[in-house]
Amino acid sequence: MFENLSDRLERSFKILKGEGKITEINVAETLKDVRRALLDADVNYKVAKTFTDTVKKKAMGMNVLTAVKPGQLMVKIVHDELTELMGGKAVGLKLEGRPAIILMSGLQGSGKTTFSGKLANMLKAKQRKNPLLVACDVYRPAAIEQLRVVGQTVGVPVYSEPDSKNVLDIAAHAISEAKAKGHDVVIIDTAGRLAVDEQMMDEIEALKNSVRPDETLFVVDSMTGQDAVNTAKEFNDRLDFDGVVLTKLDGDTRGGAALSIRTVVTKPIKFVGTGEKMEAVDVFHPERMADRILG
Ligand code: GDP
Repeated sequence: MFENLSDRLERSFKILKGEGKITEINVAETLKDVRRALLDADVNYKVAKTFTDTVKKKAMGMNVLTAVKPGQLMVKIVHDELTELMGGKAVGLKLEGRPAIILMSGLQGSGKTTFSGKLANMLKAKQRKNPLLVACDVYRPAAIEQLRVVGQTVGVPVYSEPDSKNVLDIAAHAISEAKAKGHDVVIIDTAGRLAVDEQMMDEIEALKNSVRPDETLFVVDSMTGQDAVNTAKEFNDRLDFDGVVLTKLDGDTRGGAALSIRTVVTKPIKFVGTGEKMEAVDVFHPERMADRILG
């Protein structure tokens, strides 16, 4: 992931890492290159511009022109700004309810069902939780079956009502079942569409108002770049979600969504999906991601 951006940034810094005196023109050229690299990585235009403007201001403030190793100093400034751009620090889940409720949202195919399984697995293994998965994607019969398979894989029970289309009822019954059987986390998988539509938004909004989740997560395919950012904005305007799950980072060679979403939507990326297997998931650490981008 981020291969292109890493290569491009490495090349951008070559001028400053070379022999000879660094001039304001060198710095300006490097930053122009950095901006182009970000735009080619499908970073939002405004985000890229603000980014390089901030780096320039910092570089001048830190007297980069007279620094002993200007190239290294610039890399450090860019590293710190990339970290900030992606949110600064990792943000965990807030699971206070008894049971705690996590609601998944996002378009069809974004990876909600897969991530529901991954999260159940992670909470069970790392936090000794006893989760219950809930199938509220009631429009595609295959969706319930898919969640059942995922649940089986990670050894977590799945609550479903194959004959009902009333997601508010299903969720309420699932929460009662969780209380009765001692589940401390309820993960609700929901239906997505191929594009944002009113009916889907009404349904998930009603579900959110009804179950009042501890965490509403928005799941999005990182490979869709700026579309991912725009969809995130639309969902956030309606749902005011708590965090983003960026899936399919393993196939994302550009990285535009990871770099823009935090600034545009002002919500943290909490997890990333890095493959189809249940273990292919990580907590999102902005600084580690910046390390990876800068090699
Ligand atoms: P949903 O419609 O939102 O529930 O999406 P699914 O969970 O069914 O995922 C859609 C497809 O993306 C499936 O083929 C998943 O195996 C695949 N998928 C989900 N997450 C990832 C990921 O992080 N990496 C890769 N490579 N594939 C993923």
